[in-house]
Amino acid sequence: MNIILSPAHFTTGEDMKIGLDFDGVITDAGDLKSYGAKLLYGIDIPPERFKKRLIVGTEMTAEQYDRLSKTIYYDREVGMRMRPVDGMLEYLPKLLEEGYDVRIVTSRDGAAADIARAWLREQGLGVELIGNGKGSKAIPCTGRDIFVDDDLPKLEELIGTVPNLYLFSWGYNTQEETHSGISRIESWKQIYRRIKEAT
Ligand SMILES: [Mg+2]
Repeated sequence: MNIILSPAHFTTGEDMKIGLDFDGVITDAGDLKSYGAKLLYGIDIPPERFKKRLIVGTEMTAEQYDRLSKTIYYDREVGMRMRPVDGMLEYLPKLLEEGYDVRIVTSRDGAAADIARAWLREQGLGVELIGNGKGSKAIPCTGRDIFVDDDLPKLEELIGTVPNLYLFSWGYNTQEETHSGISRIESWKQIYRRIKEAT
């Protein structure tokens, strides 16, 4: 019997399906918000504290926060100033080259998702991005083996759908208590290592 194994089997034999959030996993979400707050209101809020529930009612009104969100997510010039998370530009291309199936699932939609796609292209990253909007990510994450997000409630909605759930740690989510089924992850190096360990 003559069995021919395609060489591709060896180079792209990684069957693990990876899901990633965009803001706070691919790009530095706190940094973009901090930049926007300075631009719009002239106020300095450190990126590591920049989360809606930590800011509204203290440094900003709800209306100001809404205007900030619209600007950073929907204004192309501001939006394109996003910075990559440390290590992302090293490890994400590695995963793509190694043949992993990677999909970004974000709460962005419409023009905000288009800006994210344009930014990814600018970084030379050929990766699919689903603009899911604000609801649960369960449907676009069905079949993913792992999902990484910086927002705990988003991960909680994936319990029972995605077996390996990771909260990407930032100053603004340190007070969140992770529980069974969700672990913290500190860096892109760690994301890459976990994936390699599992495959
Ligand atoms: Mg996020």
